[in-house]
Amino acid sequence: MERISWNQYFMAQSSLLALRSTCTRLAVGATIVRDKRIIAGGYNGSIAGGVHCIDDGCYVIDNHCVRTIHAEMNALLQCAKFGVPTEGAEIYVTHFPCLQCCKAIVQAGIKKVFYAADYKNHPYAIDLFEQAGIVTEQVEQARIEIGPDDKMRIDFIHTMLNKLADSGASQAEMDEYYKKVDQLFLVSSESSS
Ligand SMILES: [Zn+2]
Ligand SMILES: [Zn+2]
Repeated sequence: MERISWNQYFMAQSSLLALRSTCTRLAVGATIVRDKRIIAGGYNGSIAGGVHCIDDGCYVIDNHCVRTIHAEMNALLQCAKFGVPTEGAEIYVTHFPCLQCCKAIVQAGIKKVFYAADYKNHPYAIDLFEQAGIVTEQVEQARIEIGPDDKMRIDFIHTMLNKLADSGASQAEMDEYYKKVDQLFLVSSESSS
């Protein structure tokens, strides 16, 4: 079995958190990590107990939803709430941080920002990260086999592919199909640990 890298694991955690987002504009997840341990997580959503954009629609001013607190901010505030130091920590975000979150990340002493997708990467945010000596690195999101259903799907597809091979499909064709199945369902390998 292929083992996923730490980067892929923490980014997967952020992707999972993004699924909890309550704003319809963008589902973002963020995970703060220290010494390879998750210390906090957040997603794009309203204040605790507030109405959700998914129920009431977004509250848009100047093309921004002002109801939501961004995922990175929520993760940092979770640390503030429970007194967890963020100095020297790393953050994994599904999207490149906005300018406001960038400043909060710098000020909280985060030393590395991993992000999956580019998102209007603001030149000033890039500048500020550089000035603060914060490394930003894009991480490829893995497709991870997580549940018994995934195993069943893969087994089923392999059974069908084997039938196809039996009925005379060429080896080259079959190799292509198997590769595609791996791409769709399994962890993609990544060199960094
Ligand atoms: Zn919203
Ligand atoms: Zn933000």
